[in-house]
Amino acid sequence: MAHYVVIDIGGTNLRSAVFDSATQQLLDIGRGPVENFLNNPGVPPGQLFDKLIHQVLGHIRAHAGRYPIAGVGISFPGPVNERGEVHSAPTLWGTTLRSVPLRERLQQELDVPVAVMNDISAAVYRYQSWFNEDFGVITISSGIGNKVFAGGRMLLNGQGLGGELGHHKVVEGDNALPCDCGGQGHLGAIASGRGTERLARLWARREPARFQGSALWRLTQGDAERIDTHAVVSALQAGDALASDVLAFGQAHLAASLALLYNAVGVKRFVLIGGFCMALGARYLDGLNAQLARCDLFCLSEPERLAMLRLGQNDDDHSLYGLGAYFLQASPADVRAA
Ligand SMILES: [Zn+2]
Repeated sequence: MAHYVVIDIGGTNLRSAVFDSATQQLLDIGRGPVENFLNNPGVPPGQLFDKLIHQVLGHIRAHAGRYPIAGVGISFPGPVNERGEVHSAPTLWGTTLRSVPLRERLQQELDVPVAVMNDISAAVYRYQSWFNEDFGVITISSGIGNKVFAGGRMLLNGQGLGGELGHHKVVEGDNALPCDCGGQGHLGAIASGRGTERLARLWARREPARFQGSALWRLTQGDAERIDTHAVVSALQAGDALASDVLAFGQAHLAASLALLYNAVGVKRFVLIGGFCMALGARYLDGLNAQLARCDLFCLSEPERLAMLRLGQNDDDHSLYGLGAYFLQASPADVRAA
């Protein structure tokens, strides 16, 4: 039996817990606002990094005071390479800080193994026991992200890149919706929670008569600018036709992207996680399956297609459980290289 400190660094919040390898449960879950550029205005990027390290070490030492700790796992909201260096993290540090040696800095302070990985990579380990074949995890929340686990390893390049399906351009033209990354017409700008909300606003403005007959009208007192993700989810749950068409538009592009992944590399199982997807649950899954049925999936049988998508656990603990699951199956050499 062993205990591991697991920490999920998000763009807004940091959550930490102790993973108990015997029960595979999380103990002492704690959370708080993460040190980022928004709550530290004017602080230089290098000092922001120091503040985050200080915050993370505080959580680790608090847990280590109560449990004997065998390792520390950190998940991070940006690409991380195999040396534990963060490629970039716009949500945390803006655009100035790049190639940050997060694992090395923490390892200098700690005498137990430290693993640092991207948050969706961590989530992959949570679901590894669900499959005995290659699979991917897709997160559909304020943005869209992915990871593919194939041939016994995470498919990433040397910089830790390989999960940016959300920044793949799927809509051309000057009217394509803007993406948070500065691009236009990206999958995440259309099919994420935030993207679906923007698309609903756009369609409501373009088709006022249809908007007037929609549940979205009642939910926003007729003000298209007040359409938010919450209103879209409520309208979808009420079976609203306009909201359903908006969702279907985004899901058609997501399904085509998953079909491309299958056709290109053969991965045919995907776990769906993320706040927007989970808020809609079976409605989201049914909609995406309907779009997938319209895709050409080379040599894939219908039962295989119907088994392609699976909803993940309906909680926000994917990275914490995933980091724990990672330690259960990792050798010490793996951890050094994680
Ligand atoms: Zn983008």
